[in-house]
Amino acid sequence: MSGIYIHIPFCATRCIYCDFYSTTLRNKGPQFVEALVREMEERKDFLHEPIRTIYLGGGTPSQLGPECIRAILDALEKHFDLSECEEITMEANPEDFVNRSWPISEGRFLPGNPLPHTVNRISMGVQSMVDSELNLLRRRHDSTHVRIAVRCLREANINNISLDLMYGLPTQTVKSWEYSIDELLKLQPQHISAYNLSIEEGTPLHTLVQKGELNPCDDETCLIMAALLRKKLKAAGYEQYEISNYALPGYHSRHNSSYWNQTPYLGLGPGAHSYDGYKLRCWNEADVQSYLKGIRKVESENLSDLDLYNERVMLGLRTVRGIDMRLFDDVRVDTVSQKALKTSLCTLVERGHLQIKENRLSLTEAGLALGDEIIRELMILDDNVSSEQLEK
Ligand code: SF4
Repeated sequence: MSGIYIHIPFCATRCIYCDFYSTTLRNKGPQFVEALVREMEERKDFLHEPIRTIYLGGGTPSQLGPECIRAILDALEKHFDLSECEEITMEANPEDFVNRSWPISEGRFLPGNPLPHTVNRISMGVQSMVDSELNLLRRRHDSTHVRIAVRCLREANINNISLDLMYGLPTQTVKSWEYSIDELLKLQPQHISAYNLSIEEGTPLHTLVQKGELNPCDDETCLIMAALLRKKLKAAGYEQYEISNYALPGYHSRHNSSYWNQTPYLGLGPGAHSYDGYKLRCWNEADVQSYLKGIRKVESENLSDLDLYNERVMLGLRTVRGIDMRLFDDVRVDTVSQKALKTSLCTLVERGHLQIKENRLSLTEAGLALGDEIIRELMILDDNVSSEQLEK
């Protein structure tokens, strides 16, 4: 099985923390769809298995409006085998459903009609249920928009809704974070993603922090917030199936799970990455202007055994399923590196950050709280490996 990711790089305005590739170009929808269909035509043979999941991400795909989304789904139907497609997710911002640019209040979701395959899952960027925090991030919605958007989606029979939250925001307190979690839970989404805000260079937020005009949350507060989230979501029946992702039983994101399991996927659109399931990774240059003109610059790399090992550790350990212990026996590194790796593994298990069950290694609850820090300890950098081994 394989997946398709479509990067739709348009946003109405830019949020101050965002470093994703997107632009505020307007009225480019039809031209963009044309370019996308051209790319589908060119790359329809990249995947050799039926498509199981489709993810329309961005940017803000809902910005394109129902007609463009419908045209994209129509073209996907023509170019790929969707006979076994289970999940089609569209990322959205709440205000797009509230201002009724989407005719979803008539008990149906327009892009699906009359296509057999339609969007059946919405992933909405909520980030906070505190209006002053949303304002600070320069989000375009407020908490009322979120509530209305969820209600509209339910009216349109979309019953697989994922809502995103962020913690560690400047001005956010443990109390205001708790309020956001509680308000979100009242909406009963099937899936919740929660990310620790990371302040990326080049963003307006980074500049404000550098100038001392905003103070980021300290690490200790972020850990308290993460623990609170885990506790509340667990009590509400959500399973944490990945470091940042929680779902009610049966509602984990199939598309994202396939990234973590390293299944092949085709990425379409400016900046989108593709992976053939073996060793080839390639990506389109993130340049929407060239893309609209039909100029698609592609870069690629062949993943070495060490790259593949690191990816398996980095992606697999993020999930509660973890990774197969055989990975550590199979990795081709010199004896010194192999010994150092085994020592790190034993130490992390002894510290209670990792556990081994049925020959699979996964993070414990304490390990999930530290996440990436633990994962980094098991990655092998090129300079830790002898050149003789790298040449093999
Ligand atoms: S809506 Fe999403 S992609 Fe667009 S600027 Fe904000 S965070 Fe970035």
